[in-house]
Amino acid sequence: MATKRNRDDQRDSRSIGREDVAPKARALQETTSRSRASAKPPTAKGGLKERARRIHERLSEAEPAPKCELDFRNGFELLVATILSAQSTDRMVNQVAPEVFRRWPTPQALAGAAQEEVEAVVKRTGFFRNKAKSIRTAAQAIVEKHRGEVPRTMEELIELPGVARKTANVVLGTAYRITTGITVDTHVGRVARRLELTQEEDPTKVEQALMALFPREAWIDTGHRLLLHGRYVCTARASDCAHCPVNELCPSAAAKPEGPWPERAERERRRVESRGEAE
Ligand code: SF4
Repeated sequence: MATKRNRDDQRDSRSIGREDVAPKARALQETTSRSRASAKPPTAKGGLKERARRIHERLSEAEPAPKCELDFRNGFELLVATILSAQSTDRMVNQVAPEVFRRWPTPQALAGAAQEEVEAVVKRTGFFRNKAKSIRTAAQAIVEKHRGEVPRTMEELIELPGVARKTANVVLGTAYRITTGITVDTHVGRVARRLELTQEEDPTKVEQALMALFPREAWIDTGHRLLLHGRYVCTARASDCAHCPVNELCPSAAAKPEGPWPERAERERRRVESRGEAE
């Protein structure tokens, strides 16, 4: 007798053959079929990769040109803003960082700044003593070891004070479009686990799992997409599963999908573009 998982796998393999169906027609098929809507997506290895491909397809529709929400004009500003964003919001950092850049516009200027003055400016982002120290000492290292230029390799970046793999991925991918990995923050980790793309909690292991599932050329944008999806739809406190474009592909979906997925993708696009203001 076929097990439930086998039946689910068969459903999914049938659906793979439908990938050439026009997205809208396919979405209607998916959302009007009760059995399909309630089917738990497959997590077997082959099924997982295919599911990741379809998640990628839908999130790409929802977020065709995903952007980092931190404001910056160059790699140095993005590095500083990303360090300041730890345990804070991008909105808060975007309010505070312009004053940092006005007073200390270059690594040389920030390297020579007084700790207390920097602390006073970055105070509202939280953990201000450590953050002030990190951005000052990172600037000093950039001046002393990299002739005032933010380095462009993972190995060199993670040597800078206050810079771990997440920050390095943000700077390399967003400021320079250099692909080295997938940025994994708290949103990306949560979404990846809810989608059962991984069970890992450790960000480096989550990143490795995602890198194995998504094509290298999509790593930078995939990081942005999962982050924005987690920030505006699959939120920590109240995920909006009914309007989620990847609902049918998610083992953690807590509600049935409303409408075809392209409409939900369009809704997510508007929500992300308006930074959560549009419904
Ligand atoms: S269906 Fe719900 S839990 Fe799954 S990714 Fe979408 S919002 Fe998150």
